[in-house]
Amino acid sequence: MSKLVIVGTVAFDAIETPFGKTDKILGGAATFIGLAASQFDIDMSIVSVVGGDFPKEYLDLLEKKNIDISGVEVVKDGKTFFWSGRYHNDMNTRDTLATELNVLADFNPVVPEDYKDAEYVMLGNLHPLVQLGVMEQMTHKPKLVVLDTMNFWMDNALEDLHKVISKVDVITINDEEARQLTGEYSLVVAAKKIHEMGPAYVVIKKGEHGALLFHDDNVFYAPALPLEEVFDPTGAGDTFAGGFIGYLARTDNVSFENMKNAVVFGSALASFCVEKFGTERMKDLNDPEVLKRLQQFKNLTQFEIELT
Ligand code: AMP
Repeated sequence: MSKLVIVGTVAFDAIETPFGKTDKILGGAATFIGLAASQFDIDMSIVSVVGGDFPKEYLDLLEKKNIDISGVEVVKDGKTFFWSGRYHNDMNTRDTLATELNVLADFNPVVPEDYKDAEYVMLGNLHPLVQLGVMEQMTHKPKLVVLDTMNFWMDNALEDLHKVISKVDVITINDEEARQLTGEYSLVVAAKKIHEMGPAYVVIKKGEHGALLFHDDNVFYAPALPLEEVFDPTGAGDTFAGGFIGYLARTDNVSFENMKNAVVFGSALASFCVEKFGTERMKDLNDPEVLKRLQQFKNLTQFEIELT
């Protein structure tokens, strides 16, 4: 069974959408990645940090999903990372209202001994130096390292971000962030420039407009499922990344052809994530629901056309 190490935030989120508002609820990049990857039969561990204010029931939830949490440090007298955001009516754009790093500010990640030889590494969104710190602890070269990041780190730690980008195989990034990182409006040109920074594979997420996978001169596109109602997009990008790497780890195949399926799997899982606030939808997701949705994806995109 493949091993997967996930590093990222485990957080409190407070979210406002046109449909309503939450108090502090469970969030964080590693949380969403772990919940998505738990759909697959793989052996995984989250490396992160929380404060003494973090409820035990949230950690129990991750454990119940067969996620090893021995690498989640609890700083008893510290406060958990907090993020708050407000979505616009289009549900595709949001304003960040607060980012409080708290215990994340002095975090030194420690990869559990049993996971230092993991074949798959998911560098979820957090400080690029923490992401690098995790890579440096791996005792064997992983088969695949996937990096996710966001504008916050481009604004606050660009030089370190470039260091980590130069070392990974795949980057997942949203369209606006790809434009910010490269200064290019065309996503095709942006993807080329990101290739030149290091990653052989570039995934550009376009929210309700799906995701693009670039590798050399090849490009693959998977739509997002057209949903009647998007309730809360928080965590969709992380859920996509968790589904993407979870699928690759389970199939243990990192070819471009297999990555196409991974993109579809990631998109299918992300389409569940947005149906309810926070992690609400992901925590009880079951296999038949996922299979049904994958079938919907197939129906949405398959067509036969005579080209003679
Ligand atoms: P997404 O909607 O996929 O971009 O991810 C939202 C999640 O990312 C939320 O649960 C937040 O807790 C987390 N998050 C927000 N800002 C940051 C940041 N600067 N670094 C790491 N994680 C963050």
